[in-house]
Amino acid sequence: MLEKLYIVIPCYNEEEMLPITAKALLEKMQTLVDEGKVHPDSKVMFVDDGSKDKTWEIITKLHSIPFFTGVKLSRNKGHQNALLAGMMTAIQYADLIISMDADLQDDIGAIDGFLEKRAEGCEIVYGVRSSREKDTKFKRGTAQGYYKMLSRMGVEITYNHADYRLMSKRAVEALAEFKEVNLFLRGLVPMVGFKTDIVTYVRNERQAGESKYPLKKMIGFAIEGITSMSIKPIRFITFIGFLIFFVSIVLLVKFLITWAIGNTVPGWSTIVISIWAIGGLQLLSIGVIGEYIGKIYLETKARPKYIIETDLEEKGD
Ligand code: UDP
Ligand code: MG
Repeated sequence: MLEKLYIVIPCYNEEEMLPITAKALLEKMQTLVDEGKVHPDSKVMFVDDGSKDKTWEIITKLHSIPFFTGVKLSRNKGHQNALLAGMMTAIQYADLIISMDADLQDDIGAIDGFLEKRAEGCEIVYGVRSSREKDTKFKRGTAQGYYKMLSRMGVEITYNHADYRLMSKRAVEALAEFKEVNLFLRGLVPMVGFKTDIVTYVRNERQAGESKYPLKKMIGFAIEGITSMSIKPIRFITFIGFLIFFVSIVLLVKFLITWAIGNTVPGWSTIVISIWAIGGLQLLSIGVIGEYIGKIYLETKARPKYIIETDLEEKGD
């Protein structure tokens, strides 16, 4: 039996991009249905992540075309939460979910590859970009360094994979079991397991509008990725603590010896430097630990990750 596919797309102030994206996806969906690759009731689900522009208006208009549906969040919750909200809503209706961005940076040609892997029995298929030529040098460099750092911290993550992926109903239901509030889907999805594979694609440039991920959000997302997936930084601090303690013991021995010999060392600079170095290090360490305590604080509150205001599918209009 053909599987019903829902393509979930988080949208934040995407009024410029949406008409272009919708047109491209409408064609794609039509072709997929005509070729008998997906169920005719398959849809594209736009998730309005509390946009301030005409995004939701456009989505409701698109809804008159059978291939389109939409969900509106009660406020802006960020890309990861919007994506999860869409996936959890779509899973009520769909057998397969593909998540992608609204800006067509993810090549929709890769969808055929996803479906082929699905036919081979994969529950999760990751879209991996073959090169980062189109990115700025800065973004490419920082992204690569970041992925390396994550894997060194023991976070299992697919290199060069953004949130463009196919997941079966089974995989999404398993993902729903992860109750954490601090969401880093790229790190979480691999923990679901099952048979997985990758499909490579060339990532395009954003075709209209601006990036909704300014540097500040990007840094926040990067820190989230580490602190929600790994406790290595805390261990690292403990290690540094030991190291500094050891060094201080060695220094103490040295000073005792010089004192015994009778050389009174002025030593003022040594003391001042150590005060600053240790003080700085302590503050940094407390900061990192605080970061984790903040996470625990948010997790214990167990606040909803998103609130859905309207689900066009449910309203059935
Ligand atoms: N996005 C969102 N909520 C936000 C920020 C972004 O839903 O608070 C969506 C955005 O509409 C887009 C996707 O997340 O579909 C990726 O954002 P963008 O393309 O701006 O990021 P970049 O590709 O520049 O990293
Ligand atoms: Mg983008």
